[in-house]
Amino acid sequence: MPEPQRILNYIGGRWLHPASEATLEDRSPHDWRRVLGIFPRSQKEDAERAIASAQEAFPAWRRLSRIKRAEYLDTVAQMVKRDQEELALLMAQECGKPLVECRADVVEGLHTLQYWFGRARMPLGDVLASEIAEKDSFTLRKPKGVVVCITPWNFPFAIPLWLICPSLMEGNTVILKPAEETPLMAQRIAQYFHEAGLPPGVLNVVHGYGEEVGWPLVVHPDTQVVLFTGSYQVGSLIRQETARHPNKFAVCETGGKNAMIIFEDCDFDLTVNAAVMAAFRTSGQRCVSASRLFVQESILDRFTRAFVEKARRLRIGDPTQEDTFIGPLITPEAREKVEGYNRLAKEEGAQVLLEVGRPTDSALQYGNYIGPFIYRMEHDSRKRVLREEVFGPHVAIIPFTSIDDAVRKYNDADYAFALSVCTRDYRKQRYIREECEFGVGYVNLPTIGAEVHLPFGGLRRSGTGMPSASALADAVTHRASWTVNYGTEIRMAQGLTSEVP
Ligand code: NAD
Repeated sequence: MPEPQRILNYIGGRWLHPASEATLEDRSPHDWRRVLGIFPRSQKEDAERAIASAQEAFPAWRRLSRIKRAEYLDTVAQMVKRDQEELALLMAQECGKPLVECRADVVEGLHTLQYWFGRARMPLGDVLASEIAEKDSFTLRKPKGVVVCITPWNFPFAIPLWLICPSLMEGNTVILKPAEETPLMAQRIAQYFHEAGLPPGVLNVVHGYGEEVGWPLVVHPDTQVVLFTGSYQVGSLIRQETARHPNKFAVCETGGKNAMIIFEDCDFDLTVNAAVMAAFRTSGQRCVSASRLFVQESILDRFTRAFVEKARRLRIGDPTQEDTFIGPLITPEAREKVEGYNRLAKEEGAQVLLEVGRPTDSALQYGNYIGPFIYRMEHDSRKRVLREEVFGPHVAIIPFTSIDDAVRKYNDADYAFALSVCTRDYRKQRYIREECEFGVGYVNLPTIGAEVHLPFGGLRRSGTGMPSASALADAVTHRASWTVNYGTEIRMAQGLTSEVP
């Protein structure tokens, strides 16, 4: 077995051990015995060091031309392009997503770099008329300072870049606290910016557990913004904490209980494939994975047969193999959690249609593998399996009768993130669009498939309504107005007198 890689914190442009020298192991989801990397178990002291370094770097970074700042992103984009395949393979080993999905994750990171680089030469604000002819008014954006980015493991390349790129581009400095399951991918991001010559302290990376090194970053008075992507449970703690600080702003993009609404007039084969992708890509471990399939009663049996048959045939296997569809779950605990929900579904009255369970293939025995679990259940909002995010290959088929019945059942949920409607009828598509709550909507598609320039985020427990892309530029900047008087005397708006006795 190859030697584990040594991963270090990146603070002030230097690679550092944590103050305590304590370390953690980065294990392979395909073979939990295999240690891929050893990384810092950082603490409050390391967080404080990173904050001091980001604060020190802020004034010079803020003053640099916006276009010069963006050029660092372009340099990193060239490196990512060069290393795409190698990055995808490393990601498959570290987070267990099949190679084809890891390639897409890398490309999404690349597109993010390109998108924010491209925005550097775009208009920054507006010029507005004043009531007073001699005055001009402008709107501008000013960076907020030190931005903390806390990220999940399931998109270990794209999501850190979603958050880092707008923060840097708009003139802030950054501290990334990546997921403890995927420190190697975060180390690669830091290496790219280092190699690109980013000034020391502009981007810092601290590794370790969220409670130990993430929380000190959140509560510290000198961090102005927290961009968090992860579970609702952690996101809501961060929102509550940041609300107590007068100068802190948090964007928390969190989980989902996503759904497809499948009408009898759908394009049947396309819809079955879309449902398989929505439920089982990334083994159901996407924030937008569909775990509720609302199916019109008249096609319930036909759809169920076709869907279950396809799911049964999906290849479970080593994520580095090209023909794998379902890779391992991220940790043994994640698999136990999904198995717990599978049991709960039975206790809550599910009619189980398929339970593949743990594969018997000896080549997979040391991995966190589990196959699809599909069941039929009447909608009942008291059922936990129909409300809570499972984050695994666990999906309910729920019958509905009419479009209003579908809307009522769909909206009866704590989360509101991704929705897909499958029908050939444009009126139904529009009605669903208008009546259902969602952040990311699709027609005749799976619930997955983000593009970096589109809003991506949800409502209710799914997010704070700052759905990535453009919205993040708002989150990491103050919008300010700037009014200039070109006249020789003071003239006020709203008819206010300017006489001074
Ligand atoms: P998680 O909430 O367990 O962890 C996310 C990050 O938060 C990690 O870096 C973790 O170390 C950190 N963290 C944990 N406790 C913390 C604390 N007390 N203070 C500060 N930081 C803390 O989530 P996860 O298991 O890594 O990812 C899966 C979750 O992420 C799912 O719920 C999924 O739906 C969600 N997700 C959402 C989106 C989105 O765009 N909305 C995208 C991907 C994943």
